Amino acid sequence: MKVFKFGGASVKDSDAVKNVAKILSLYEGDKLIVVVSAMGKTTNKLEEVVDALKQKDKKKFFHLINDLKVFHNDLLGNLFQEKHFTLYNTIESIFEHLEQKFDLPFSENYSYEYDQIVSLGEVISSHIVASFLSENGFLVKWTDARNLIRTDNTYQEGNVDWSKTEELVKTKLIPDFQEADILFTQGFIGHTPEGFTTTLGREGSDFSAGIFAYCSNAESVTIWKDVPGMLNADPKYFENTVKLDQISFKEAIELAYYGASVIHPKTIKPLQNKEIPLFVKSFLEPKKEGTIIQSSTKQDHLIPSFIVKKNQVLISFTPKDFSFIVEENLSEIFRLLSEAQAKINIMQNSAVSFSILLDEKKTDLSKILNLFQGGYHARYNQGLELVTIRHYNQETIDHISKDKEILLQQRTRQTARFVMKNID
Ligand code: ASP
Ligand code: MG
Repeated sequence: MKVFKFGGASVKDSDAVKNVAKILSLYEGDKLIVVVSAMGKTTNKLEEVVDALKQKDKKKFFHLINDLKVFHNDLLGNLFQEKHFTLYNTIESIFEHLEQKFDLPFSENYSYEYDQIVSLGEVISSHIVASFLSENGFLVKWTDARNLIRTDNTYQEGNVDWSKTEELVKTKLIPDFQEADILFTQGFIGHTPEGFTTTLGREGSDFSAGIFAYCSNAESVTIWKDVPGMLNADPKYFENTVKLDQISFKEAIELAYYGASVIHPKTIKPLQNKEIPLFVKSFLEPKKEGTIIQSSTKQDHLIPSFIVKKNQVLISFTPKDFSFIVEENLSEIFRLLSEAQAKINIMQNSAVSFSILLDEKKTDLSKILNLFQGGYHARYNQGLELVTIRHYNQETIDHISKDKEILLQQRTRQTARFVMKNID
């Protein structure tokens, strides 16, 4: 049994959904758990719905929902020749339920409200694709991930209860293979012990695929994407990128840690624990090899990988009392940074100063400067980039640092990191 995951781009319109059916027909005879995301940009739209609801902006709320209705109805019209009444009713009642929320009080817990609403993108998408598949001869059963993936009640970022989820998958999902070849479910969503819907964090559908695979001891997971596999760099920033044919779980975790965004970082660990291989393949060229992520580290060093983070700010703190950077002020610095919810990408210290690099967009710079004002002089430098090279050599370093000024660098045996700015 295999687990497949189709993301938002792979079901973004009716042609894309038809393509999913084509891919699945290549796996006739296999038992599949298929995890699907919300269609296209639905999740972003639903996030706007939540905000309109919170602000009690009636016009915007109904306008956004109407856009979503039109989008999904168009798609239905293109997928089904005749009106598929059960499916239309199902989708209709989901939208009705959403619209009724306008007259209900908005919970004090924003994240709770968010999850009840944003999760619907996956529910709608899975109903549509599953119905299309069954109309086209597949033996498919729609299944509600909200009865299978158990989390705590950390809304928007549910923490998985692995043993409960495993029990639910084994007792409530797997037996359905007796009546179907494809068990069709949603990514990104789960439920609390009380039965409220949770989500697993943006882009969490990959993680759902990992959870289902772990809990069902699947033979493999395949994530179908609009790229041929994992590339050694983002084509947005680099020419001549190459596909990584095979890398280890360990390497994939490293790459994700440094900011490579092909796979949701939480996906890998459960698969590594059970040595379940993960394929990343193109939904446009489904017969091509893609990338396989598995246990062996043999091929990790063959191709250098580049990870770029733009819009970085480098802040350096110097104690006002001229003291050295030692354990006492380090612990104070970290306390203040954690108070400011700063997410550090790189840090380094000298005798008298301590430097950190942060994403500008995720950082409240003035809050940090305020917190440190009492004891530290702070200097900062914006508009920088952080480039990480895995399995570097001098040539790769020369390549990335051409016409750049290096402000800070760190190297270990496998990894070199550079904070740079353009020389103008
Ligand atoms: N639909 C959700 C999102 O866009 C989950 C996912 O696509 O993985 O974040
Ligand atoms: Mg998505």
